[in-house]
Amino acid sequence: VVRTRFAPSPTGFLHVGGARTALFNYLFSKRYNGEFILRIEDTDLERSTKESEDQLLRTLKWLDLKWDEGPIVGGPYGPYRQSERLDLYQTKAYELVNNDRAYEAYIYPEEMEEIKSQLLSVGKPPHYTYELISKYNTQERINEYKEKGLKPVVFLKMPQKDYQINDLIKGEVVFKKGAIGDFIILRSNGVPTYNFAVVVDDIAMKITHVIRGDDHLSNTLRQVAIYEAFSAEIPEFAHVSMILGPDGKKLSKRHGATSVEEFIKKGILPEALVNYLALLGWSHPEGKEIMDIEEIIFNFSLDRVSSSPAIFDEAKLKWMNGQYLHSKSIEEIYSLAEPFIIESNLLTKEQYEVNKTWIMKAIETIITSVETLSEIPDAISVFLKDITPNLGDQEFLDYFNKDGVREAITLFYEYTQETDKWDTEMITENLKKAIKEAKPQKKAFYMALRKILTDSFHGPDLVNTIYLIGRNRIIQRLERVVQ
Ligand code: GLU
Repeated sequence: VVRTRFAPSPTGFLHVGGARTALFNYLFSKRYNGEFILRIEDTDLERSTKESEDQLLRTLKWLDLKWDEGPIVGGPYGPYRQSERLDLYQTKAYELVNNDRAYEAYIYPEEMEEIKSQLLSVGKPPHYTYELISKYNTQERINEYKEKGLKPVVFLKMPQKDYQINDLIKGEVVFKKGAIGDFIILRSNGVPTYNFAVVVDDIAMKITHVIRGDDHLSNTLRQVAIYEAFSAEIPEFAHVSMILGPDGKKLSKRHGATSVEEFIKKGILPEALVNYLALLGWSHPEGKEIMDIEEIIFNFSLDRVSSSPAIFDEAKLKWMNGQYLHSKSIEEIYSLAEPFIIESNLLTKEQYEVNKTWIMKAIETIITSVETLSEIPDAISVFLKDITPNLGDQEFLDYFNKDGVREAITLFYEYTQETDKWDTEMITENLKKAIKEAKPQKKAFYMALRKILTDSFHGPDLVNTIYLIGRNRIIQRLERVVQ
């Protein structure tokens, strides 16, 4: 059975790179009816925070990437938080010591630095070896550690030979003999180093496929050596290429929003973000772009994941979001838009509920002109704002002074005043009647009217716009041009 994991360190927001890693692990496991495990890698006690972990879990839920095992849901290989597994790492490190694959070292950090500089000064690579390190394990030093209550560190003996992995995305990756020396797996405070904890957990949690960013490729050598020391089966590795900004540089703050959190605030829909992230490196066999999660899962495979970097293009994400947004019912958009409209102070929560019919009509009228939920308040505000159109505008005067335009607008004003019903049918009717009688050039009439009512020559459907602005406001605005 396929078992993948997403193993974030809770040290900040979930960025698009991390979200894509989570997604690919999710997709791959679901493609093969396997399990997706979430593991919190919080051994960096100083940088890890509970808030960040909570945030991560919330964000993954928002993306609807349900984990089969992990925090909250539990599972047979828990706990799923590394800080709760410290005993295991210690036991496992000493298992390797007992099998002669690792050794204790009573060495101080300054002494390790010294060894390094000495090696460098004679032109040798700064690699630790058992001979260099174990010199310090004198009886005297061991006693000193005992007296001071210190614990030794544990080093892994790095076999000196070529290592080769067959990465499912990168292909064959060779690490030449002598690339690295022995390295610490357990610190003197009992906390494992990153590579050791990852491997102990991946073995314990029976992970079959490690899918992660290729910034971890260099860690893979140490990790493979640890698997080997445990005589454990090495999982398949798949290292996904970096995500770059449109300028070809590593995606960062400079490029704008990079965390999922920011995209939520920008009014991106989870389905759209998932769809977009899936295409950052992977592609559908027929090049299809808009796909729901089921279709992505059905078609997902690592051999369609590109080994070259993906470019993050926010404009494309927004376009895709528009596609998802426009396919939703107005009722659905009404609920999704609520927090955005309230947050923008356009309406209160109560007004939002009381004016549901009006808001739904407003949404229906503007929806094709927006791509994200966060653009909705602004688009709707044109129906609510008090404005004083600039009627000295030359373009306006050109339209307004055309034959029949002023007269038709006056007629429309009169009909609007006489009207007792206020709905789009009546507005359409009144416009027709005014045109029929005054016979203006239609384009000039509509342009002039729109300018008077909205201070713009462009905008959504005019009849709906008139209806949404409301009769009193419409009359007030028309009064400026009719005497
Ligand atoms: N905890 C690591 C990170 O957040 C991921 C480790 C892994 O995927 O092997 O980058």
